[in-house]
Amino acid sequence: MAMSETSNGTPTVLIVEDDRDLLSVLQRILATEGYQVRSAQDGETGLIEALDHSPDLVILDVGLPGKSGVEVARELRARGFRAPMLMLTAFSSTSDKVSGLDAGADDYLPKPFEFPELLARVKALLRRAAITAESSVLRVRDLTLDPISRRVERNGRPIELTQKEYALLEYLMRNTGRVLSRQMISEHVWKQQIDPLTNVVDVYINYLRKKLEDDRDNPLIRTVRRSGYVLKA
Ligand code: CA
Repeated sequence: MAMSETSNGTPTVLIVEDDRDLLSVLQRILATEGYQVRSAQDGETGLIEALDHSPDLVILDVGLPGKSGVEVARELRARGFRAPMLMLTAFSSTSDKVSGLDAGADDYLPKPFEFPELLARVKALLRRAAITAESSVLRVRDLTLDPISRRVERNGRPIELTQKEYALLEYLMRNTGRVLSRQMISEHVWKQQIDPLTNVVDVYINYLRKKLEDDRDNPLIRTVRRSGYVLKA
């Protein structure tokens, strides 16, 4: 799954709005709320921004120069963009609303709107997206992990894991391609700093390897010398 580029917990919001005054107010309000904010003032730029920077949420005005917000939403969904989109529609325009939702927007807000209302919608959409991401099945090559049933399979073959092995694998899979240090792993899986002299992380990585690996030349879990471990797609 493509994660957003901010893995430090600060969601990035992309605002696509051609009304400069409204845009600058929105930028300020969202930044004050702690979001990282990116912006674009036309549909084409908004599309590129969204595809290049994978924001966690897009606020998309319908009436934009060039490509309309509806076209941008449709194109983004067609390209597999999954983050929630909040459409800003012209006041009481039912057709804007319907075509926006048809195009793949998750919610809409008629202009003019109250800012607390916008913030509430943004929060709700981000929360919903986080729950969906947490509960959807993780896949790396022929390995799958279902966070709901906690079932793990490699090439269709069920793999029995202990609780710690499972937590370790889930952490590795949610960070596929990213090198995780022993300290990051111990904090996340054991919820504590571990004595650097113990090799508990290495021991558990070995347990996992024994249960998972079937191809010595192309292992899923790689050791990165002096750094830690990485799960390779
Ligand atoms: Ca506009």
